[in-house]
Amino acid sequence: MTHLAHCKCHALKLEFQAPPVFQFYCHCKDCRQVSSKRVTRVAFFKAEPEFATGEHTGIDMTGNSGKPKQYRRCAACGDFVYATVDALKGMVGVNVDAMDPLFEFKPLAHVWTSEKDNGVTISDTVVQFPTAPVLRPGGSAK
Ligand SMILES: [Zn+2]
Ligand SMILES: [Zn+2]
Repeated sequence: MTHLAHCKCHALKLEFQAPPVFQFYCHCKDCRQVSSKRVTRVAFFKAEPEFATGEHTGIDMTGNSGKPKQYRRCAACGDFVYATVDALKGMVGVNVDAMDPLFEFKPLAHVWTSEKDNGVTISDTVVQFPTAPVLRPGGSAK
């Protein structure tokens, strides 16, 4: 099954042949700033060759791990579509809001709850991590 994501204007498109490796809610300040949402839903896919088509603009930041990360927006509409994180080599973190509407979000965890927006109340039973957990492909985190 092909998984598709695109920005609002459809100029920047992503395509992955395999299902996401893991998915989570990110509460970190950086994601909040880039996505303009209090909580960002992220799906990490293996970075396949030529996964993106279209022009992007970048916002480069340093992750809390001390390693660089790159947020990518569409060059035309400015929509935040994906990010790459040097701490997670070979992966692409896709903004779930940009995924095809048929995509089913199955979060494994809430991460970076230590940076959570004060207005956010977590009411589900999904496991929470104050910082970044060790994520194991296939579904577990610790
Ligand atoms: Zn666009
Ligand atoms: Zn984040």
